[in-house]
Amino acid sequence: MNYDKNNIFAKILRKEIPCKKIYENDHVLAFHDINPQKKIHVLVIPKGEFTDFDDFTKRATEIEMKEFLKGVSHVSGLLGLEKKGYRVLSNIGQDGGQEVPHLHFHLFGGERVGKMVEK
Ligand code: AMP
Repeated sequence: MNYDKNNIFAKILRKEIPCKKIYENDHVLAFHDINPQKKIHVLVIPKGEFTDFDDFTKRATEIEMKEFLKGVSHVSGLLGLEKKGYRVLSNIGQDGGQEVPHLHFHLFGGERVGKMVEK
């Protein structure tokens, strides 16, 4: 899938629409999900134009990959999630239920997250 420059996270990165920012560096942006599914529900996105995790693993540089994973870990640390645990999830494409076509990792925590997936 070609990257859609008008997706909502691209607009957040361009500061055309606001977000509740938690952390930002040259490579990643982390912000609260607008419709939280758990007490803590945060999204971490790379600044590069990647539609999903599959696209990212094929096209990202080693630095982009390293910095994205480090960014996710840094944000979980900022939120204190490592103490009691949390879940990282990334939806990919239609069967994955992805709504926004810019790679994002969801971080869920602050309470028991529950079953891994719906049956
Ligand atoms: P996904 O289904 O994995 O693509 O998840 C997209 C997520 O983005 C959903 O959890 C939405 O609630 C969230 N979302 C959509 N628009 C915004 C926004 N403007 N700010 C923060 N989160 C958003």
